[in-house]
Amino acid sequence: MTGELHRRHRAVLPDWLALYYRDPLELTHGEGRHVWDADGNRYLDFFGGILTTMTAHALPEVTKAVAEQAGRIIHSSTLYLNRPMVELAERIAQISGIPDARVFFTTSGTEANDTALLLATAYRRSNQILAMRNSYHGRSFSAVGVTGNRGWSPTALSPLQTLYVHGGVRTRGPYAHLDDAAFVQACVADLEDLLGHVRPPAALIAEPVQGVGGFTSPPDGLYAAFREVLQRRGVLWIADEVQTGWGRTGDHFWGWQAHAQNGPPDMVTFAKGIGNGMSVGGVVARAEIMNCLDANSISTFGGSPVTMAAGLANLTYLLEHDLQGNARRVGGLLAELLRAATAGLPGVREVRGRGLMIGVELVRPGTDEADPEAAAEVLEAARAGGLLIGKGGGHDTSVLRIAPPLSLTVAEAEEGAAILERALRSVR
Ligand code: PMP
Repeated sequence: MTGELHRRHRAVLPDWLALYYRDPLELTHGEGRHVWDADGNRYLDFFGGILTTMTAHALPEVTKAVAEQAGRIIHSSTLYLNRPMVELAERIAQISGIPDARVFFTTSGTEANDTALLLATAYRRSNQILAMRNSYHGRSFSAVGVTGNRGWSPTALSPLQTLYVHGGVRTRGPYAHLDDAAFVQACVADLEDLLGHVRPPAALIAEPVQGVGGFTSPPDGLYAAFREVLQRRGVLWIADEVQTGWGRTGDHFWGWQAHAQNGPPDMVTFAKGIGNGMSVGGVVARAEIMNCLDANSISTFGGSPVTMAAGLANLTYLLEHDLQGNARRVGGLLAELLRAATAGLPGVREVRGRGLMIGVELVRPGTDEADPEAAAEVLEAARAGGLLIGKGGGHDTSVLRIAPPLSLTVAEAEEGAAILERALRSVR
């Protein structure tokens, strides 16, 4: 059945639209931390619908809010007042940590970053941007132009002039051998070297933990050290929280809070999970920056009352149920279980994680080379065992990515770790 759909997909959709699995999955429904495919197979979902199902599948609170709003009105225009949009903006401004914050809603992370780049370049009157090596910020012309991960940069053309900084990846690259303090120092020196003494760039855009890049994070405080240098030169700091926001990293509500010594970022972008699957994205920025545009700008679908209702219900749920605390506790346990399960297993370079954002990096046994074939095989074997996980990394995607819905239970963490251990052992 899915074979036939796969053939039709291939015939009519772009070749570059990546699909997981040799025999791709058609998901038909979900509940809690589980999803079912068109053949009736049930899977434990450790990839959260690629991090969009942040809280749980078919969360009744969100389903009800969406259905009620859809039954009232689905008009979608920022030309009219929109109560759910104002309410969600108020909540996000308040928890953003950004003083005098304004919020603009989009339909995706790409569009959120695009907007942040538009604001930064307009505000600073420069089209030069600093971005991190190995980063991913989306698929639009400008987002691709600040994406350091070569596997996700389908064009070398860009409307921006981008300079790529070291530091997003702690474990690889020329500074990997240094201890944390020396690593930070070397990355700051690299940044200062890039800045030189010429007219400064508009902004630095960075993911606090690189998502597509393989769940890699720098030592805590790196971006605070960058911030000090940037502030001296009037360069803005944009934190891309599309994967790291809303408590996913466990210890913090926002990923940037691991780098907060010199204050919050100037702008935060968000998307994916906040709508629990509905298309909610946006930018939160200091008013002075948000209001710097001197012509009208609207979004037809950004801030639709239906998606805003989903965002409000989801945010309320995750705060009331302390899902950040759950991510810290259950994520910590899951990382420990995976470390124990993979200890001594050839070709497992590292299990790393923050909250419910855990990466297992695979290499060819006895070497330090990425092993994308093994990662693909583990994905297949995990699926056969009833577990969905993701993969990422540099252009050789050899990091298994684990990011379940934030409501994951201890029993589900144990079950998933056991399935993943069997999958790894079957491939190694
Ligand atoms: N930023 C980051 C950090 C992301 O991981 C993604 C999506 N993988 C995006 C931006 C783009 O988001 P979207 O796919 O919603 O456009």
